[in-house]
Amino acid sequence: MARYTGPVCRLCRREGIKLFLKGERCYTSKCAMERRPYPPGMHGPERRRAKPSDYGIRLREKQKLRRIYGVMERQFRRYFDMATRSKGMTGQVLLTLLERRLDNVVYRLGFASSRAQARQLVRHGHFTVNGRKVNIPSYLVKPGDVIAVRDESKEKAYFKKLAEEMEQVSVPPWLSLDPMTMSGRVLELPRREDITDVPVQEQLVVEFYSR
Ligand code: SF4
Repeated sequence: MARYTGPVCRLCRREGIKLFLKGERCYTSKCAMERRPYPPGMHGPERRRAKPSDYGIRLREKQKLRRIYGVMERQFRRYFDMATRSKGMTGQVLLTLLERRLDNVVYRLGFASSRAQARQLVRHGHFTVNGRKVNIPSYLVKPGDVIAVRDESKEKAYFKKLAEEMEQVSVPPWLSLDPMTMSGRVLELPRREDITDVPVQEQLVVEFYSR
């Protein structure tokens, strides 16, 4: 599945908030939102911007959510269609689906510092789900699934270093982490209140697609 390969800090500047797409750099003074906290474009910070329309507000909310999880439009739309066919509130189901992606779970378990890095680690085959290698970032985990670093991968320098830091990782309540075995378990489906770091009004996303 395709992914966005352009400059990611530009996406934060476009949305006007930190989307935390670059891992550790996002917490330093090198963050582009610290240095240039205005939308990208040749006219710089002085440019006057028109008041956004209702459509524009909903579009920005949809783009923000899509970019946080690193999903392209076609796949995002597919998640939305799945959410509309499911029981429950569409916006919350959509968020739950995005959270259940394997790359997001790898990120939540602290095996990567950003979803983009998690995606790459998954693509390179460093993880198993219930003992079987899975290299599909969009794989949807379910309650009871065990996600673990492959034994072969634990010998790699990256994971050896990570193992020393795993004790400090805190995971959301719908996941559990065993730092000793470098594995995590999905305890239940994530609820909206468990997703505290996604500053998106999902109802506006639903309204965007329901035009
Ligand atoms: Fe966004 Fe991180 Fe870039 Fe800052 S460093 S602009 S938070 S991706």
